[in-house]
Amino acid sequence: MELTLLDERTTNSEGYGAGSGEIFREEYACPCGKSIVVYEKDAIPGFRDKSTSCECEECNKKYDFSRGAAIEK
Ligand SMILES: [Zn+2]
Repeated sequence: MELTLLDERTTNSEGYGAGSGEIFREEYACPCGKSIVVYEKDAIPGFRDKSTSCECEECNKKYDFSRGAAIEK
């Protein structure tokens, strides 16, 4: 299922010694609507990473998350 985007923002980062970069963050409503799912992508030289984490215990048990989507386990 697709999740509803609640908020998105870009934060400038000082970086980790190899120049500055940005962190993209998107917040989605979790499938039950009680909590949020956070997608973060780092675009910092020498430190590139992305992750999706759900702050809802119930939904964490039921779904796998990939950016703005929840997949039933
Ligand atoms: Zn939930």
